[in-house]
Amino acid sequence: PLVLGIETSCDETGVGVVRGTTLLADAIASSVDEHARFGGVVPEVASRAHLEAMTPTVERALLEAGVAFDDVDAIAVTAGPGLAGALLVGVAAAKAYALALGKPLYGVNHLAAHVAVDQLEHGPLPKPCVAMLVSGGHSSLLLVPDVATDVRPLGATVDDAAGEAFDKVARVLGLGFPGGPVIDRMARDGASAAIAFPRGKYDDGTLDFSFSGLKTAVARWVEARERSGEPVPVADVAASFQEAVVDVLTRKALAACREHGVKDLLVGGGVAANSRLRALAAERCEAAGVRLRVPRPGLCTDNGAMVAALGAELVASGAVPSELDLPADSALPVTTIRL
Ligand code: ATP
Ligand code: MG
Ligand code: FE
Repeated sequence: PLVLGIETSCDETGVGVVRGTTLLADAIASSVDEHARFGGVVPEVASRAHLEAMTPTVERALLEAGVAFDDVDAIAVTAGPGLAGALLVGVAAAKAYALALGKPLYGVNHLAAHVAVDQLEHGPLPKPCVAMLVSGGHSSLLLVPDVATDVRPLGATVDDAAGEAFDKVARVLGLGFPGGPVIDRMARDGASAAIAFPRGKYDDGTLDFSFSGLKTAVARWVEARERSGEPVPVADVAASFQEAVVDVLTRKALAACREHGVKDLLVGGGVAANSRLRALAAERCEAAGVRLRVPRPGLCTDNGAMVAALGAELVASGAVPSELDLPADSALPVTTIRL
């Protein structure tokens, strides 16, 4: 099926077009620059930007895919989780397209879409696989018997998400917003063993994470340096912080594979774009005999293709379409794949 996917859960207006597991177009308009001076995404600003970007981004995606509205078999849209007002813009647009074109509508889970997107790059997902979802709002380990019908939580962060920790540490270091990409870059010039930052829940035997203690430890370390009048070695702090995060993430991801006898690990979400996470995951998977799948960085951060990918999977699995009074649910649980 040819599926048009619409994503507006945060600050990216994403529109993707896929045919089955083939990516035809992935158009994005981001309002990130408008949020930067506030140090974080401002919901009202994001909603307004989605409204302005929606029609041109849909048109751009169709053009890029070389298809017409009439060729589209189904519309998929992120129904949650995310910012309530931002989600509403996408859901309203998707309903309008579905109604005007007379095509079925699928309201899908943004988190499951971060997992499903990998099919566009590496083909059908092994069943089951373990998925580590690491993003701005979530950090979870999931057992995924079937991304269209069955996603089970194995563990999650008990406080901050991994991406949130990157964003907060970047702010402490004065590196701007969003923090992930700039810390990733800075860390390349630093020593990851320079500072021994704490690794929360490292040996607690659970599949949960904790990043708030690490974030506080970095802030205290930087403050102490500033008080003493010595320069802050930004690259070393970035590299040591990043290492603490990816060390715990990869350790727990492989523990999840081991405990559940699963040989395929998928890493998705914005933090999966991190170069050190990708390298360490590859190294540890290789040593453990686990096959690793990570989408290319552009498909890890929010985009419309991921929504179209999950929509196509739902169509293929014979899922019942959503009603035209489909709500947006800002707190949609990861287990609800389709609304
Ligand atoms: P969620 O998916 O939980 O709703 P979100 O959609 O806001 O949250 P994503 O777009 O999936 O999040 O990811 C954004 C997060 O990824 C931000 O916190 C950002 O700092 C982080 N990020 C992006 N690139 C990198 C990178 N190279 N290294 C580390 N973190 C990164
Ligand atoms: Mg974003
Ligand atoms: Fe996301």
